[in-house]
Amino acid sequence: MKLIFERSVPGRKCDILPACDVKTVSLPAGLARREAPTLPEMAEVDISRHYTELCKNVHGVNSGFYPLGSCTMKYNPRIDEEMASLPGFTGIHPLSPADSVRGCRAVLDTAQKYLCEIFGMADCTFQPAAGAHGEFTGVLLIKKYHESRGEAQKRTKIIVPDSAHGTNPATASMCGYTVVNVASAPDGCVDLEALKAVLGEDTAGLMLTNPNTVGIFDENILEITRLVHEAGGLCYYDGANLNAVMGIVRPGDMGFDCIHSNLHKTFATPHGGGGPGAGVVGCKDFLAPFLPKSALMDGKDALQVRSFAGTFLVVVKALTYILTLGKEGIPEAAENAVLNANYLMQKIKGTFKPAFDRICMHEFVLDLSDFKKETGVSALDVAKTLIDYGMHPPTMYFPLIVHEALMLEPTETENKENLDAAAEVFRKLYKLGFEDPEYMHAAPHHAQIARPDEVQASRNPVVRWAKA
Ligand SMILES: *Cc1c(COP(=O)(O)O)cnc(C)c1O
Repeated sequence: MKLIFERSVPGRKCDILPACDVKTVSLPAGLARREAPTLPEMAEVDISRHYTELCKNVHGVNSGFYPLGSCTMKYNPRIDEEMASLPGFTGIHPLSPADSVRGCRAVLDTAQKYLCEIFGMADCTFQPAAGAHGEFTGVLLIKKYHESRGEAQKRTKIIVPDSAHGTNPATASMCGYTVVNVASAPDGCVDLEALKAVLGEDTAGLMLTNPNTVGIFDENILEITRLVHEAGGLCYYDGANLNAVMGIVRPGDMGFDCIHSNLHKTFATPHGGGGPGAGVVGCKDFLAPFLPKSALMDGKDALQVRSFAGTFLVVVKALTYILTLGKEGIPEAAENAVLNANYLMQKIKGTFKPAFDRICMHEFVLDLSDFKKETGVSALDVAKTLIDYGMHPPTMYFPLIVHEALMLEPTETENKENLDAAAEVFRKLYKLGFEDPEYMHAAPHHAQIARPDEVQASRNPVVRWAKA
């Protein structure tokens, strides 16, 4: 399709401004533009059609199945957006007098209360802008704790299992820690013996997610957190995605000391386009004194990781979501997320092979390495072919401990018919791999863009239009 600039016709416009009725002033010569900006010139109808066409070429959760594992692409109820667009929330300024924004303060306090309840934590901050930023904040809490006990010098290592989300080792290293990898047992869970072997006087903490990145709940979790505490370390819970456990089991009760959660995955803010999000960070009582505070709201010398109260409207959406689902709805959503993942896994079984053939939580991983050996068709080829079937590809090649991985998370917002249809497509592609591998190597055949050079696209993206 054409870019909006290519659709532009000089002189065409869609607004008629009244004649200027105030005195005009000229900018100082040095500040004025030398040439007019190259803005597209179009009629309103053409603009509308342009954006509608763009919209049709994008796959969102409103257009179809979006089983992107570890990302929770669930449908976000419209009421959450409606509440976040109320003028009382959108029209405020961070410097508004406290008296005039008491409602907003109440939103923050109420959301904090409910999220702490869901996390099993005593306090939280909304400052971090996203999940990775939340991890960074949480690990700094751990660092401050060790400093406060005079142990910062000797506690230099953070333990991260090999199945962890890539942001975990990155975070630990950004915070100045040495990352120690601990291998997973064959069932995808933490190998207790391997963990014991790396724990010691130099352990600052452990970063873990449970259910882990292969979608399995680690049944040894109490023993794991106990061992870390015994060594003098703290336990960090990566709760980016709480869909499997919210309202059912609390990370605080599993023995974790702090947590971040992505409000933009679990709690109703759509994501995928780069923001805005919120990586709320919760912690136990003894870490609360180290939480970042808003300098404005909580005193001038407060420690901050971001300005003011963070991404406020994302918190409004999360609170709306929590209030509309309520105490019964939240665990029900988690149960349905788990049920849907298990249902889909069972329906696909017999064709593509689950990496871990046991009850999963809210997501599961398929291992296509045998399939690739037999047909030459890779996980990438399958993902690309799925696009032609109106489906967003699952997460690929993650977690790293499974080769030729496809990771599916259907979420609780898909009905049985959708899951049946999706399973049918997977079964069909399994057969197609044996019958016509060439077709799958060249897929997708019906998309705007087929196979961009992904390294170039991510390292050197060209997102700027230049006049020919
Ligand atoms: C998404 C995710 C993150 C990172 O969250 P961002 O908001 O993208 O920074 C961290 N850990 C896990 C397990 C995730 O799924």
